[in-house]
Amino acid sequence: MEKFACKNLGLDCDFEATGATKEEAIKKAMEHGNVVHADMMKGMSEEQMAEFGQKLEASIQPA
Ligand SMILES: [Zn+2]
Repeated sequence: MEKFACKNLGLDCDFEATGATKEEAIKKAMEHGNVVHADMMKGMSEEQMAEFGQKLEASIQPA
């Protein structure tokens, strides 16, 4: 299992997502982000989004 936690990105949020693969965990994290962190994500440029995506992927750990 791969696990994503908002806290690993420095967000004040208790959301965690697990997936059988990294891709699955990322998908769940993005779905969560689009709803709960929409304001934060809306304010990002394309460049910042790309950087954020990399950070997100790097923050996922085996669980
Ligand atoms: Zn969150």
